[in-house]
Amino acid sequence: MLENQSTTTLENIGEFGLIDLLTSSIKIHHSSTQKGVGDDAAVIDHGNLKTLISTDLLLEGIHFDLSYFPLKHLGYKAITSNLSDIYAMNAMPKQVTVSIGISSKFTLEAVEELYAGMLFACNRYEVDLVGGDTSSSKQGLVISVTAIGEAEADDIVYRNGAKPGDLLCVTGDLGAAYTGFQLLEREKRVYLANPEIQPDLEGKDYIIERQLKPEARKDIVLMLKHLNIKPTSMIDISDGLSSEIFHLCANAKTGMYLYEDKIPIDPTSYNMARELDIDPTLTALSGGEDYELLFTIAQSEYEKIKDNADITVIGYVCEEKEGIHMISKSGNKHPLKAQGWKAF
Ligand code: ADP
Ligand code: MG
Repeated sequence: MLENQSTTTLENIGEFGLIDLLTSSIKIHHSSTQKGVGDDAAVIDHGNLKTLISTDLLLEGIHFDLSYFPLKHLGYKAITSNLSDIYAMNAMPKQVTVSIGISSKFTLEAVEELYAGMLFACNRYEVDLVGGDTSSSKQGLVISVTAIGEAEADDIVYRNGAKPGDLLCVTGDLGAAYTGFQLLEREKRVYLANPEIQPDLEGKDYIIERQLKPEARKDIVLMLKHLNIKPTSMIDISDGLSSEIFHLCANAKTGMYLYEDKIPIDPTSYNMARELDIDPTLTALSGGEDYELLFTIAQSEYEKIKDNADITVIGYVCEEKEGIHMISKSGNKHPLKAQGWKAF
């Protein structure tokens, strides 16, 4: 990238210089943030509301591959994937802390890129970056983000509230982050075998963006409030539809029917899956990293969402003893398996 031609080693600037530089452009969005970066601890006042906290740890080589992951995108994703967990509680994230471990192979400019992506996400989702920690690491980049949110006690939606007869709903479309990931991996292999060949990503923007720059569904939480719907249970899709369905069922002690033909899959993702010789349904069931919301609602709410382009009804909750099944496109009933992406 052109803007990245100058390089400064982290040694030259030092830990405190780095922290000052990274945190100097932080904007504060909420009065609940009484004290942000700069003291021994941040001070947050959510008044009478409940506080929700969620943490994620991201390790280079395990959760991301820097050979095709631009640092700015990685920073963005580190924040949005974390905010998604707070939205999945039907709550609003207000603050985040960000801790990073950086090896000496990173320049100051590289760390600034990472941070620029994080701050971009913070500003877009209106959350305050209120603290963190900065350390050197022997090997690889380590990122840990903690999100802090707030909600009225009565508004919080847990994983355990589904009742037989409730409708199973999902937002957006599924599987694209996984087909995007498989495409990037394929092009990396091609590149490693022959660096002369340019990656062929033509027309695949959507699935690449779903992998590299996922959004969290703040809009859905606001919309549900607007529609006066409180889901009976909710979870975000980080591991894949089938494993999230198992979580909802295990917590609520119910079964589930999922209709394969209802699962929303974007055409770009569908075609990519076909090209890669993967069953498109499997990319939704086991792909993960979609960061869409999966939730159950009472049947009486159906009228409010039936024509909503962002929400698809994909199944319904049944008694636990009936089990967890998918009705295939051909109408056959198959037990659903809670396989993660490793099953591919
Ligand atoms: P301490 O020694 O008390 O841990 P630090 O020198 O690590 O303090 O941090 C000083 C301030 O800078 C604290 O407010 C801390 O939350 C903040 N901070 C440190 N690293 C980061 C970071 N990567 N992002 C945001 N804030 C940070
Ligand atoms: Mg510290």
